[in-house]
Amino acid sequence: MTAVHVPGIPVIEDGRLISTSPATGEEAGRFPVATPDDVARAVGRARAAGDWWAGLGFTGRRERLLRWRGLIARRIEELARLMHVEGGKPLPDAVVEILTAIEHIDWAARNARRVLGPRRVRSRLILAEFTGHLEYQPYGVVGVIGPWNYPVLTPIGSTGYALAAGNAVVFKPSEYTPAVGQWLVDSFAEVVPEQPVLTTVHGLGDVGAALCRAGVGKLAFTGSTATAKKVMAACAESLTPVLLEAGGKDAMIVDTDADLDAAAEACVWGGLTNAGQTCIGIERVYAVEPVFDAFVDKVVARAERLTVGAEGADIGPITMPNQLDVIRRHIDDALAAGGRAVLGGADAVRPPYVHPTVLVDVPESSAAVREETFGPTLTINRVPDADEAVRRANALPYGLGGAVFGRKRAVAIARRLRSGMASINSTLTFAGMSTLPFGGVGDSGFGRIHGEDGLREFGRAKSITRRRARSLLPSTTFERTSADVARLVKAAKLMYGRR
Ligand code: NDP
Repeated sequence: MTAVHVPGIPVIEDGRLISTSPATGEEAGRFPVATPDDVARAVGRARAAGDWWAGLGFTGRRERLLRWRGLIARRIEELARLMHVEGGKPLPDAVVEILTAIEHIDWAARNARRVLGPRRVRSRLILAEFTGHLEYQPYGVVGVIGPWNYPVLTPIGSTGYALAAGNAVVFKPSEYTPAVGQWLVDSFAEVVPEQPVLTTVHGLGDVGAALCRAGVGKLAFTGSTATAKKVMAACAESLTPVLLEAGGKDAMIVDTDADLDAAAEACVWGGLTNAGQTCIGIERVYAVEPVFDAFVDKVVARAERLTVGAEGADIGPITMPNQLDVIRRHIDDALAAGGRAVLGGADAVRPPYVHPTVLVDVPESSAAVREETFGPTLTINRVPDADEAVRRANALPYGLGGAVFGRKRAVAIARRLRSGMASINSTLTFAGMSTLPFGGVGDSGFGRIHGEDGLREFGRAKSITRRRARSLLPSTTFERTSADVARLVKAAKLMYGRR
Protein backbone atom coordinates (compact mmCIF):
# COMPACT_ATOMS: atom_id res chain seq x y z
CA MET A 1 0.00 0.00 0.00
CA THR A 2 1.30 3.46 -0.84
CA ALA A 3 1.14 5.97 1.99
CA VAL A 4 -0.46 9.39 1.44
CA HIS A 5 2.17 12.13 1.35
CA VAL A 6 1.22 15.34 3.12
CA PRO A 7 4.05 17.89 2.88
CA GLY A 8 6.14 17.75 6.04
CA ILE A 9 4.48 14.71 7.58
CA PRO A 10 6.92 11.81 7.64
CA VAL A 11 5.62 8.51 6.30
CA ILE A 12 6.92 4.97 6.39
CA GLU A 13 6.84 3.12 3.10
CA ASP A 14 8.37 -0.31 2.49
CA GLY A 15 10.26 -0.12 5.79
CA ARG A 16 11.70 3.31 4.98
CA LEU A 17 11.08 6.60 6.70
CA ILE A 18 10.46 9.29 4.10
CA SER A 19 11.03 12.88 5.10
CA THR A 20 9.62 15.80 3.11
CA SER A 21 9.68 19.58 3.13
CA PRO A 22 6.74 21.12 5.03
CA ALA A 23 6.71 23.99 2.50
CA THR A 24 6.92 22.19 -0.82
CA GLY A 25 6.62 18.47 -0.18
CA GLU A 26 10.05 17.94 -1.77
CA GLU A 27 11.63 14.73 -0.52
CA ALA A 28 14.59 15.32 1.80
CA GLY A 29 15.59 11.69 2.16
CA ARG A 30 14.51 8.14 2.99
CA PHE A 31 16.06 5.94 5.63
CA PRO A 32 15.60 2.34 6.80
CA VAL A 33 13.44 2.11 9.92
CA ALA A 34 15.24 0.30 12.74
CA THR A 35 13.63 -2.65 14.52
CA PRO A 36 14.29 -3.17 18.25
CA ASP A 37 16.90 -5.80 17.24
CA ASP A 38 18.59 -3.28 14.94
CA VAL A 39 18.74 -0.81 17.83
CA ALA A 40 20.25 -3.44 20.15
CA ARG A 41 22.82 -4.35 17.48
CA ALA A 42 23.69 -0.68 16.92
CA VAL A 43 24.32 -0.27 20.66
CA GLY A 44 26.41 -3.47 20.71
CA ARG A 45 28.58 -2.22 17.84
CA ALA A 46 28.84 1.18 19.49
CA ARG A 47 30.08 -0.47 22.69
CA ALA A 48 33.12 -1.88 20.89
CA ALA A 49 33.59 1.39 18.99
CA GLY A 50 33.38 3.28 22.29
CA ASP A 51 36.24 1.22 23.74
CA TRP A 52 38.35 2.12 20.73
CA TRP A 53 37.35 5.79 20.89
CA ALA A 54 38.06 5.99 24.64
CA GLY A 55 41.44 4.37 23.95
CA LEU A 56 42.39 7.28 21.66
CA GLY A 57 42.63 9.46 24.74
CA PHE A 58 41.82 13.15 24.96
CA THR A 59 44.47 14.15 22.41
CA GLY A 60 43.34 11.69 19.73
CA ARG A 61 39.69 12.58 20.20
CA ARG A 62 40.37 16.31 20.23
CA GLU A 63 42.22 16.07 16.93
CA ARG A 64 39.37 14.14 15.28
CA LEU A 65 36.62 16.32 16.73
CA LEU A 66 38.39 19.45 15.49
CA ARG A 67 38.62 17.87 12.05
CA TRP A 68 34.86 17.17 12.21
CA ARG A 69 34.03 20.75 13.13
CA GLY A 70 36.33 21.89 10.30
CA LEU A 71 34.48 19.71 7.81
CA ILE A 72 31.07 20.98 8.97
CA ALA A 73 32.31 24.59 8.74
CA ARG A 74 33.56 24.06 5.19
CA ARG A 75 30.22 22.54 4.17
CA ILE A 76 28.05 24.99 6.07
CA GLU A 77 26.01 25.99 2.99
CA GLU A 78 25.27 22.37 2.08
CA LEU A 79 24.05 21.52 5.58
CA ALA A 80 22.06 24.76 5.85
CA ARG A 81 20.30 23.97 2.56
CA LEU A 82 19.37 20.49 3.78
CA MET A 83 17.98 21.96 7.02
CA HIS A 84 16.02 24.45 4.93
CA VAL A 85 14.56 21.75 2.68
CA GLU A 86 13.77 19.25 5.41
CA GLY A 87 12.48 21.51 8.19
CA GLY A 88 11.63 24.72 6.32
CA LYS A 89 14.13 26.72 8.38
CA PRO A 90 15.22 29.99 6.70
CA LEU A 91 18.80 29.72 5.48
CA PRO A 92 20.21 32.51 7.72
CA ASP A 93 18.71 30.82 10.80
CA ALA A 94 20.24 27.51 9.68
CA VAL A 95 23.66 29.14 9.28
CA VAL A 96 23.48 30.67 12.78
CA GLU A 97 22.46 27.30 14.20
CA ILE A 98 25.36 25.46 12.54
CA LEU A 99 27.84 28.12 13.59
CA THR A 100 26.68 27.78 17.19
CA ALA A 101 26.95 23.99 17.00
CA ILE A 102 30.50 24.00 15.65
CA GLU A 103 31.56 26.41 18.38
CA HIS A 104 30.31 23.82 20.89
CA ILE A 105 32.27 21.01 19.22
CA ASP A 106 35.35 23.21 19.25
CA TRP A 107 35.05 24.11 22.94
CA ALA A 108 34.19 20.57 24.07
CA ALA A 109 37.12 19.11 22.12
CA ARG A 110 39.58 21.66 23.53
CA ASN A 111 38.42 21.51 27.14
CA ALA A 112 37.57 17.84 27.76
CA ARG A 113 40.97 16.94 29.21
CA ARG A 114 41.05 19.92 31.58
CA VAL A 115 37.54 19.25 32.90
CA LEU A 116 37.42 15.44 32.86
CA GLY A 117 41.00 14.24 32.89
CA PRO A 118 42.75 12.63 35.88
CA ARG A 119 43.87 15.04 38.55
CA ARG A 120 45.03 15.04 42.13
CA VAL A 121 42.55 16.24 44.72
CA ARG A 122 43.70 17.66 48.05
CA SER A 123 42.83 15.66 51.11
CA ARG A 124 42.00 17.20 54.48
CA LEU A 125 43.53 16.83 57.90
CA ILE A 126 41.32 13.88 58.77
CA LEU A 127 42.87 11.72 56.02
CA ALA A 128 46.10 13.63 55.57
CA GLU A 129 48.04 10.40 55.01
CA PHE A 130 46.09 9.77 51.75
CA THR A 131 46.04 11.50 48.40
CA GLY A 132 42.90 11.78 46.32
CA HIS A 133 42.58 11.26 42.55
CA LEU A 134 39.59 12.16 40.44
CA GLU A 135 38.70 11.58 36.84
CA TYR A 136 35.53 11.36 34.77
CA GLN A 137 35.33 8.13 32.81
CA PRO A 138 33.03 7.65 29.82
CA TYR A 139 29.76 5.75 30.07
CA GLY A 140 30.65 3.68 27.01
CA VAL A 141 27.62 4.29 24.82
CA VAL A 142 25.36 7.32 25.17
CA GLY A 143 21.95 7.25 23.49
CA VAL A 144 20.88 10.63 22.12
CA ILE A 145 17.27 11.35 21.16
CA GLY A 146 16.77 14.64 19.38
CA PRO A 147 13.95 16.96 18.33
CA TRP A 148 13.34 18.50 14.92
CA ASN A 149 13.34 22.21 15.70
CA TYR A 150 17.13 22.60 16.05
CA PRO A 151 18.22 19.41 14.29
CA VAL A 152 21.93 20.32 14.39
CA LEU A 153 22.41 22.32 17.59
CA THR A 154 20.41 20.15 19.98
CA PRO A 155 21.94 16.78 19.05
CA ILE A 156 25.42 18.30 18.95
CA GLY A 157 24.85 19.89 22.36
CA SER A 158 24.74 16.34 23.70
CA THR A 159 26.71 14.42 21.09
CA GLY A 160 29.70 16.78 20.81
CA TYR A 161 30.18 16.74 24.58
CA ALA A 162 29.52 12.98 24.91
CA LEU A 163 32.10 12.24 22.20
CA ALA A 164 34.66 14.60 23.72
CA ALA A 165 34.18 12.76 27.02
CA GLY A 166 35.11 9.48 25.31
CA ASN A 167 31.72 7.91 24.62
CA ALA A 168 30.32 6.38 21.46
CA VAL A 169 26.88 7.73 20.56
CA VAL A 170 23.81 6.12 19.02
CA PHE A 171 21.59 8.94 17.83
CA LYS A 172 17.87 8.76 17.08
CA PRO A 173 16.95 11.91 15.15
CA SER A 174 13.38 13.16 15.10
CA GLU A 175 11.25 11.52 12.45
CA TYR A 176 10.82 15.05 11.03
CA THR A 177 14.55 15.59 10.47
CA PRO A 178 16.24 12.25 9.79
CA ALA A 179 18.18 13.58 6.77
CA VAL A 180 19.93 16.26 8.82
CA GLY A 181 20.70 13.68 11.52
CA GLN A 182 22.15 11.30 8.95
CA TRP A 183 24.23 14.12 7.42
CA LEU A 184 25.86 14.75 10.80
CA VAL A 185 26.65 11.08 11.28
CA ASP A 186 27.98 10.62 7.72
CA SER A 187 30.22 13.68 8.05
CA PHE A 188 31.62 12.34 11.32
CA ALA A 189 32.30 8.98 9.64
CA GLU A 190 34.40 10.81 7.03
CA VAL A 191 36.83 11.96 9.69
CA VAL A 192 36.51 8.86 11.89
CA PRO A 193 36.15 6.03 9.37
CA GLU A 194 37.72 3.33 11.55
CA GLN A 195 34.81 2.48 13.88
CA PRO A 196 31.06 3.27 14.17
CA VAL A 197 31.59 5.76 16.99
CA LEU A 198 28.58 7.89 16.02
CA THR A 199 25.64 6.13 14.37
CA THR A 200 21.94 6.72 13.79
CA VAL A 201 18.83 4.63 14.27
CA HIS A 202 15.82 5.93 12.40
CA GLY A 203 12.11 5.63 12.97
CA LEU A 204 9.24 6.91 15.06
CA GLY A 205 8.88 7.19 18.84
CA ASP A 206 9.04 3.41 19.30
CA VAL A 207 12.63 3.45 18.03
CA GLY A 208 13.48 6.06 20.67
CA ALA A 209 11.79 3.85 23.27
CA ALA A 210 13.86 0.88 22.07
CA LEU A 211 17.03 2.95 22.44
CA CYS A 212 16.11 3.67 26.07
CA ARG A 213 15.94 -0.09 26.69
CA ALA A 214 18.99 -1.12 24.64
CA GLY A 215 21.56 -1.02 27.42
CA VAL A 216 23.11 2.39 26.80
CA GLY A 217 25.19 3.81 29.66
CA LYS A 218 23.26 7.08 29.64
CA LEU A 219 20.38 8.55 27.67
CA ALA A 220 20.36 12.21 26.64
CA PHE A 221 16.91 13.33 25.54
CA THR A 222 15.80 16.63 24.03
CA GLY A 223 12.12 17.05 23.24
CA SER A 224 8.77 17.66 24.86
CA THR A 225 8.04 17.30 28.56
CA ALA A 226 5.45 14.59 27.86
CA THR A 227 7.95 12.42 25.98
CA ALA A 228 10.66 13.17 28.57
CA LYS A 229 8.48 11.48 31.19
CA LYS A 230 8.12 8.38 28.98
CA VAL A 231 11.87 8.31 28.38
CA MET A 232 12.57 8.57 32.09
CA ALA A 233 10.08 5.78 32.85
CA ALA A 234 11.64 3.50 30.22
CA CYS A 235 15.15 4.24 31.50
CA ALA A 236 14.04 3.65 35.10
CA GLU A 237 13.53 -0.05 34.27
CA SER A 238 17.29 -0.51 34.01
CA LEU A 239 18.37 2.45 36.19
CA THR A 240 19.84 4.04 33.06
CA PRO A 241 20.71 7.64 33.98
CA VAL A 242 18.98 10.31 31.95
CA LEU A 243 19.57 13.88 30.90
CA LEU A 244 16.31 15.60 30.03
CA GLU A 245 16.15 18.83 28.01
CA ALA A 246 12.43 19.47 27.71
CA GLY A 247 10.04 22.22 26.72
CA GLY A 248 9.72 25.78 27.93
CA LYS A 249 7.57 28.89 28.01
CA ASP A 250 10.25 31.49 28.44
CA ALA A 251 9.41 34.94 29.66
CA MET A 252 11.04 38.26 28.96
CA ILE A 253 10.81 41.12 31.45
CA VAL A 254 11.04 44.76 30.34
CA ASP A 255 11.87 47.07 33.24
CA THR A 256 11.41 50.85 33.43
CA ASP A 257 15.03 51.66 32.56
CA ALA A 258 15.24 49.34 29.53
CA ASP A 259 16.47 50.50 26.13
CA LEU A 260 13.13 49.95 24.43
CA ASP A 261 14.45 49.81 20.86
CA ALA A 262 16.99 47.15 21.78
CA ALA A 263 14.36 45.32 23.81
CA ALA A 264 11.87 45.31 20.93
CA GLU A 265 14.47 44.15 18.43
CA ALA A 266 15.63 41.29 20.67
CA CYS A 267 12.08 40.37 21.60
CA VAL A 268 10.98 40.01 17.98
CA TRP A 269 13.99 37.89 17.16
CA GLY A 270 13.86 35.83 20.37
CA GLY A 271 10.17 35.13 19.92
CA LEU A 272 9.85 34.76 16.18
CA THR A 273 13.15 33.28 14.97
CA ASN A 274 12.67 29.82 13.46
CA ALA A 275 8.94 30.68 13.27
CA GLY A 276 8.83 30.60 17.07
CA GLN A 277 9.72 26.90 17.16
CA THR A 278 12.43 27.36 19.76
CA CYS A 279 12.56 25.68 23.16
CA ILE A 280 14.14 28.83 24.64
CA GLY A 281 12.07 31.14 22.43
CA ILE A 282 10.46 34.15 24.09
CA GLU A 283 6.76 33.31 24.29
CA ARG A 284 5.56 35.69 27.03
CA VAL A 285 6.61 39.24 27.76
CA TYR A 286 5.93 41.25 30.91
CA ALA A 287 6.52 44.96 30.42
CA VAL A 288 6.13 47.40 33.30
CA GLU A 289 3.29 49.89 32.99
CA PRO A 290 5.33 53.08 32.28
CA VAL A 291 6.99 51.55 29.20
CA PHE A 292 4.29 49.12 28.09
CA ASP A 293 2.63 51.12 25.30
CA ALA A 294 5.86 52.36 23.76
CA PHE A 295 7.38 48.89 23.91
CA VAL A 296 4.37 47.23 22.26
CA ASP A 297 4.40 49.83 19.45
CA LYS A 298 8.08 49.15 18.79
CA VAL A 299 7.56 45.37 18.76
CA VAL A 300 4.66 45.63 16.33
CA ALA A 301 6.57 48.01 14.06
CA ARG A 302 9.38 45.47 13.77
CA ALA A 303 7.30 42.29 13.64
CA GLU A 304 5.01 43.59 10.89
CA ARG A 305 8.02 44.10 8.61
CA LEU A 306 8.92 40.38 8.70
CA THR A 307 8.31 38.38 5.56
CA VAL A 308 6.69 34.96 5.57
CA GLY A 309 7.23 32.24 2.98
CA ALA A 310 9.29 29.36 1.65
CA GLU A 311 12.35 31.03 0.10
CA GLY A 312 14.22 34.05 1.35
CA ALA A 313 11.62 34.93 3.97
CA ASP A 314 12.23 35.76 7.63
CA ILE A 315 9.64 33.28 8.79
CA GLY A 316 9.38 29.84 7.23
CA PRO A 317 6.69 27.18 7.48
CA ILE A 318 5.65 25.41 10.65
CA THR A 319 7.72 22.24 10.50
CA MET A 320 5.22 19.91 12.15
CA PRO A 321 1.86 20.37 10.43
CA ASN A 322 -0.09 19.23 13.52
CA GLN A 323 1.36 22.16 15.47
CA LEU A 324 -0.76 24.53 13.39
CA ASP A 325 -3.84 23.42 15.35
CA VAL A 326 -2.12 24.19 18.66
CA ILE A 327 -1.08 27.66 17.49
CA ARG A 328 -4.60 28.39 16.18
CA ARG A 329 -6.15 27.22 19.46
CA HIS A 330 -3.84 29.42 21.53
CA ILE A 331 -4.64 32.52 19.46
CA ASP A 332 -8.39 31.81 19.49
CA ASP A 333 -8.41 31.13 23.26
CA ALA A 334 -6.49 34.30 24.00
CA LEU A 335 -8.88 36.42 21.95
CA ALA A 336 -11.97 34.72 23.39
CA ALA A 337 -10.66 35.37 26.91
CA GLY A 338 -10.35 39.12 26.31
CA GLY A 339 -6.88 39.42 24.84
CA ARG A 340 -6.33 41.72 21.87
CA ALA A 341 -4.32 41.05 18.73
CA VAL A 342 -2.26 44.15 17.91
CA LEU A 343 -0.67 42.23 15.04
CA GLY A 344 -1.88 39.10 13.26
CA GLY A 345 -4.60 37.25 15.14
CA ALA A 346 -7.32 34.82 14.19
CA ASP A 347 -6.43 34.72 10.49
CA ALA A 348 -2.66 34.53 11.02
CA VAL A 349 -2.63 30.75 10.63
CA ARG A 350 -2.41 30.09 6.88
CA PRO A 351 -0.96 26.57 6.49
CA PRO A 352 1.86 25.81 6.33
CA TYR A 353 2.65 29.32 7.60
CA VAL A 354 1.74 31.41 10.60
CA HIS A 355 2.09 35.17 10.30
CA PRO A 356 3.60 37.15 13.17
CA THR A 357 1.06 37.63 15.90
CA VAL A 358 1.32 39.88 18.95
CA LEU A 359 -1.34 39.49 21.62
CA VAL A 360 -1.72 41.91 24.53
CA ASP A 361 -3.63 41.87 27.81
CA VAL A 362 -4.06 38.10 27.62
CA PRO A 363 -5.34 36.53 30.87
CA GLU A 364 -2.61 34.62 32.67
CA SER A 365 -4.87 31.58 32.82
CA SER A 366 -5.13 31.18 29.05
CA ALA A 367 -3.30 28.53 27.03
CA ALA A 368 -1.35 31.21 25.11
CA VAL A 369 0.33 32.18 28.39
CA ARG A 370 0.57 28.79 30.09
CA GLU A 371 1.35 26.26 27.33
CA GLU A 372 4.16 26.00 24.80
CA THR A 373 2.77 27.58 21.58
CA PHE A 374 5.75 26.93 19.31
CA GLY A 375 4.68 29.47 16.72
CA PRO A 376 5.63 33.05 15.74
CA THR A 377 3.40 34.53 18.41
CA LEU A 378 4.03 36.66 21.49
CA THR A 379 1.89 37.63 24.41
CA ILE A 380 2.78 40.95 26.00
CA ASN A 381 1.15 41.76 29.32
CA ARG A 382 1.44 44.88 31.44
CA VAL A 383 2.60 44.64 35.03
CA PRO A 384 2.81 47.31 37.73
CA ASP A 385 6.47 46.59 38.54
CA ALA A 386 9.34 44.16 38.08
CA ASP A 387 8.39 42.17 41.19
CA GLU A 388 5.03 41.32 39.67
CA ALA A 389 6.77 40.47 36.40
CA VAL A 390 9.02 37.98 38.20
CA ARG A 391 6.05 36.50 40.05
CA ARG A 392 4.19 35.89 36.80
CA ALA A 393 7.26 34.67 34.95
CA ASN A 394 7.83 32.11 37.70
CA ALA A 395 4.21 30.98 37.90
CA LEU A 396 4.51 28.10 35.42
CA PRO A 397 5.88 24.58 35.90
CA TYR A 398 8.37 25.20 33.06
CA GLY A 399 11.70 26.86 33.80
CA LEU A 400 14.09 26.80 30.86
CA GLY A 401 15.46 30.27 29.99
CA GLY A 402 14.35 33.86 30.07
CA ALA A 403 15.42 37.42 29.36
CA VAL A 404 15.53 40.73 31.19
CA PHE A 405 15.81 44.19 29.68
CA GLY A 406 16.82 46.94 32.03
CA ARG A 407 19.82 48.40 33.82
CA LYS A 408 19.78 48.90 37.58
CA ARG A 409 17.83 45.83 38.65
CA ALA A 410 18.50 43.57 35.66
CA VAL A 411 20.96 41.19 37.29
CA ALA A 412 18.85 40.85 40.42
CA ILE A 413 15.77 40.10 38.31
CA ALA A 414 17.63 37.55 36.18
CA ARG A 415 18.83 35.76 39.32
CA ARG A 416 15.28 35.56 40.67
CA LEU A 417 13.87 33.94 37.53
CA ARG A 418 13.08 30.28 38.21
CA SER A 419 14.95 29.05 35.17
CA GLY A 420 18.20 27.38 34.25
CA MET A 421 19.37 30.34 32.15
CA ALA A 422 18.71 34.00 31.47
CA SER A 423 19.99 36.71 29.11
CA ILE A 424 20.25 40.36 30.09
CA ASN A 425 19.69 42.91 27.30
CA SER A 426 19.61 40.16 24.66
CA THR A 427 17.62 36.98 24.05
CA LEU A 428 18.74 33.33 23.74
CA THR A 429 22.43 34.26 24.02
CA PHE A 430 23.23 31.65 26.68
CA ALA A 431 22.68 28.85 24.11
CA GLY A 432 25.64 30.04 22.08
CA MET A 433 28.06 30.55 24.94
CA SER A 434 29.90 27.25 25.03
CA THR A 435 31.43 28.06 28.41
CA LEU A 436 28.00 28.18 30.11
CA PRO A 437 25.83 25.18 31.03
CA PHE A 438 22.44 24.86 29.34
CA GLY A 439 19.38 23.21 30.86
CA GLY A 440 16.20 23.78 32.79
CA VAL A 441 14.33 23.27 36.03
CA GLY A 442 10.89 21.80 36.75
CA ASP A 443 8.98 20.67 33.66
CA SER A 444 11.87 21.85 31.48
CA GLY A 445 13.95 18.91 32.67
CA PHE A 446 17.23 18.42 34.48
CA GLY A 447 20.89 17.86 33.77
CA ARG A 448 23.04 20.16 31.70
CA ILE A 449 24.58 20.24 28.26
CA HIS A 450 27.31 22.75 27.24
CA GLY A 451 30.15 24.08 29.36
CA GLU A 452 32.00 22.21 32.07
CA ASP A 453 28.80 20.80 33.53
CA GLY A 454 27.88 19.58 30.06
CA LEU A 455 31.14 17.67 29.80
CA ARG A 456 30.77 16.20 33.28
CA GLU A 457 27.26 15.07 32.35
CA PHE A 458 28.86 12.51 30.03
CA GLY A 459 31.45 11.10 32.43
CA ARG A 460 31.13 9.13 35.63
CA ALA A 461 33.16 10.56 38.48
CA LYS A 462 35.78 8.01 39.46
CA SER A 463 37.32 8.68 42.85
CA ILE A 464 40.53 6.98 44.00
CA THR A 465 42.40 7.33 47.27
CA ARG A 466 45.99 6.30 47.71
CA ARG A 467 47.88 5.83 50.97
CA ARG A 468 51.09 7.75 51.14
CA ALA A 469 52.03 7.22 54.80
CA ARG A 470 51.12 5.20 57.87
CA SER A 471 48.15 6.55 59.84
CA LEU A 472 49.16 8.37 62.99
CA LEU A 473 45.64 8.01 64.29
CA PRO A 474 44.38 4.62 63.03
CA SER A 475 40.61 4.54 62.76
CA THR A 476 39.58 2.24 59.89
CA THR A 477 41.22 -0.93 61.18
CA PHE A 478 40.47 -3.53 63.82
CA GLU A 479 44.05 -3.02 64.97
CA ARG A 480 43.08 0.28 66.62
CA THR A 481 43.38 0.37 70.38
CA SER A 482 41.08 1.97 72.94
CA ALA A 483 43.76 4.66 73.36
CA ASP A 484 43.49 5.36 69.60
CA VAL A 485 39.71 5.72 69.92
CA ALA A 486 40.14 8.08 72.88
CA ARG A 487 42.52 10.16 70.76
CA LEU A 488 39.93 10.15 67.94
CA VAL A 489 37.30 11.51 70.34
CA LYS A 490 39.73 14.23 71.42
CA ALA A 491 40.58 15.05 67.80
CA ALA A 492 36.87 15.22 66.85
CA LYS A 493 36.21 17.72 69.66
CA LEU A 494 39.29 19.74 68.80
CA MET A 495 38.63 19.90 65.06
CA TYR A 496 34.83 20.16 64.88
CA GLY A 497 33.50 20.76 68.38
CA ARG A 498 34.00 24.47 68.70
CA ARG A 499 30.39 25.55 68.04
P1 NDP B 1 8.97 15.09 21.03
O1 NDP B 1 9.00 14.90 22.50
O2 NDP B 1 7.72 14.79 20.31
O3 NDP B 1 10.10 14.18 20.33
C1 NDP B 1 11.47 14.26 20.72
C2 NDP B 1 12.16 12.97 20.30
O4 NDP B 1 11.69 11.87 21.09
C3 NDP B 1 11.90 12.59 18.85
O5 NDP B 1 13.07 12.04 18.28
C4 NDP B 1 10.82 11.55 18.99
O6 NDP B 1 10.77 10.67 17.91
C5 NDP B 1 11.28 10.82 20.23
N1 NDP B 1 10.23 10.04 20.88
C6 NDP B 1 8.87 10.13 20.72
N2 NDP B 1 8.24 9.23 21.55
C7 NDP B 1 9.21 8.58 22.23
C8 NDP B 1 9.20 7.57 23.24
N3 NDP B 1 8.07 7.04 23.70
N4 NDP B 1 10.38 7.13 23.72
C9 NDP B 1 11.56 7.68 23.28
N5 NDP B 1 11.63 8.64 22.33
C10 NDP B 1 10.47 9.10 21.81
O7 NDP B 1 9.47 16.58 20.78
P2 NDP B 1 9.59 17.34 19.40
O8 NDP B 1 10.45 16.57 18.45
O9 NDP B 1 8.22 17.75 18.97
O10 NDP B 1 10.40 18.64 19.82
C11 NDP B 1 9.83 19.80 20.31
C12 NDP B 1 9.96 19.87 21.81
O11 NDP B 1 11.34 19.81 22.16
C13 NDP B 1 9.46 21.17 22.38
O12 NDP B 1 8.73 20.90 23.56
C14 NDP B 1 10.73 21.93 22.71
O13 NDP B 1 10.60 22.88 23.71
C15 NDP B 1 11.64 20.82 23.10
N6 NDP B 1 13.03 21.22 22.98
C16 NDP B 1 13.78 21.38 24.10
C17 NDP B 1 15.08 21.82 24.01
C18 NDP B 1 15.92 21.97 25.22
O14 NDP B 1 17.13 22.03 25.07
N7 NDP B 1 15.38 22.02 26.42
C19 NDP B 1 15.69 22.15 22.71
C20 NDP B 1 14.82 21.93 21.59
C21 NDP B 1 13.53 21.47 21.75
P3 NDP B 1 9.73 10.98 16.71
O15 NDP B 1 10.04 12.36 16.23
O16 NDP B 1 10.09 9.93 15.75
O17 NDP B 1 8.36 10.87 17.34
